[in-house]
Amino acid sequence: MIRRLTVIGVGLIGGSLARALRRAGAVGEVVGCSRRIEHLQRAVDLGVIDRYETDMATAVAGADMVVVSVPLGAMEAVFRAISPALAADAVVTDVGSSKASVMAAVEAACDGVPAWFVPGHPIAGAERSGVEASFADLYETRRVILTPVEVTDPAATTRVRTMWERCGARVSEMQVAHHDEVLAATSHLPHILAYGLVDTLANLEEHDEVFQYAAGGFRDFTRIASSDPTMWRDICLANRVAILKMMDFYTRDLAKLREMVEAGDGEALFELFTRAKSERDGFMG
Ligand code: NAP
Repeated sequence: MIRRLTVIGVGLIGGSLARALRRAGAVGEVVGCSRRIEHLQRAVDLGVIDRYETDMATAVAGADMVVVSVPLGAMEAVFRAISPALAADAVVTDVGSSKASVMAAVEAACDGVPAWFVPGHPIAGAERSGVEASFADLYETRRVILTPVEVTDPAATTRVRTMWERCGARVSEMQVAHHDEVLAATSHLPHILAYGLVDTLANLEEHDEVFQYAAGGFRDFTRIASSDPTMWRDICLANRVAILKMMDFYTRDLAKLREMVEAGDGEALFELFTRAKSERDGFMG
């Protein structure tokens, strides 16, 4: 049971967490904090938070659990503002989509990584943003990855694990660098490809016609290009090294695929498509 939860950044991810914990009866009071009062008032009106503060230090005072759910580029400033004001029993976690950058932000803000900080990342989301998009079921049966480091207090990790489990999530632990490589492959590269494809087609002279006749496949493939540009800019900057590695693999393989098309090599194309279909059917299965 969390006595007082403070959510810094009551958007899709932070708002959904607050909703899920409330529904589970796992939290006493929920305090929200972000930059804009109209967003926070909307969160109160929707019943996502009980009250709000616009000053971060005031918002975390007396909280036993603090969740930082702001864009990656804002993490360091948030940790700088909250760390001197935390209660003695407070545990802090985040939801950032890349972990090495968050560790660097925390380290810079707090002069080292504190024992009370448990890095986390829910593998759940949507292409919509803001508290209006939040919903209590978001984490049901979804994975949450925690990346505690040597100095992390194991009791703090247990409290964060329990919080996510109360939301219906399945929690696992991973090394920071491994997390960033896995997510570069499974999430960051696909988002970059979706944005890139839509942009390429939008730059064609006859792009109106292209979009007019866009069929289901195009919609499926590019759905995630409707995601928040701020968030994805921050992810590309934060996880640059792992993302570049995956982009290089993909560019190399796309060049091979191009050669097959150019050479009219039906056999090679059939083999590749069969292999990929079988992989996808397997993991969807
Ligand atoms: P979101 O819906 O846009 O919410 C972001 C929240 O942060 C808003 O409440 C915003 O409120 C606040 N905020 C923005 N900049 C801030 C700043 N400088 N200081 C204080 N508050 C600030 O975004 P989200 O999708 O929930 O993403 C939040 C985090 O979750 C990101 O780090 C992202 O990497 C991670 N994540 C996202 C997904 C996903 O699919 N969306 C999945 C997993 C993890 P104000 O405008 O009022 O400040």
